[in-house]
Amino acid sequence: MKYRGIIIDLDGVVWRGRKPIKRNIEAIKLLHSKGLKTIYLSNNATRSRKEYVELLREHGLAADLRTVINSAYAAVEYVREHDGYKVFIVGEAGLYYEASIAGLLPVTIGTPADHVITGMDRFSTYYKLTYACRLIKNGAVFVAANTDRTYPVEDGEDPGAGTIVSFIETYSGRKPDIVTGKPNPWILDLALKLNDLKREEVLIIGDRLDTDVMLGLNTGVDTLLVLTGVARVEDIEKTGINPTYVAKDLLDFISEYPDLFGL
Ligand SMILES: [Mg+2]
Repeated sequence: MKYRGIIIDLDGVVWRGRKPIKRNIEAIKLLHSKGLKTIYLSNNATRSRKEYVELLREHGLAADLRTVINSAYAAVEYVREHDGYKVFIVGEAGLYYEASIAGLLPVTIGTPADHVITGMDRFSTYYKLTYACRLIKNGAVFVAANTDRTYPVEDGEDPGAGTIVSFIETYSGRKPDIVTGKPNPWILDLALKLNDLKREEVLIIGDRLDTDVMLGLNTGVDTLLVLTGVARVEDIEKTGINPTYVAKDLLDFISEYPDLFGL
């Protein structure tokens, strides 16, 4: 057996919009039943881990607050480890919830803050972004949960959290001090530490080259690109971002390489 754990992306692997991707889910259940650690790693910061745990359980998948990590939690953990307390958040419920349960204080417009955390925010306003810009220009630490250019929706892709980062960058002339989501090693190492795993013991499974596969390249971890989401085979040559393995879906892959998982 080569792998003790799998690091599973959510959008494009477990589901697409609200639709479950059945062949991937079936394979994850099988691997979990054989004792592999199944860890979920998502860049989506709109929801909290708790919300994801409940969604995964609705699809019959085992999940808890240790095995579900998203970029909202990764951003909050970064701030907590760096002694932040007052945070101004440009983001949705997931970020506010994670910040609150971690003991941080999300503040409102007009209140000083030591950190600004940005995520996807579909309810943002010019007024809110302006306050984030001012804080960052005046020295607040700029923490971006992720810089995804796009956000997957049922009928395609909308502007992602990266577009909010661009807004602030354009004004302040500052890049984020840290991007906590994929492809940054921070989020992976957090997940591994929580689950007592090492980089060489896991396989990253994802549908994107720029986040999932790049994370593997940045950390020396093996990657499997599944063609159930965003990336197509031809994108590999176009981008030069090479996964360790490529498969139509996860069930196909484990049927072809059962030994990798001790099946
Ligand atoms: Mg994905």
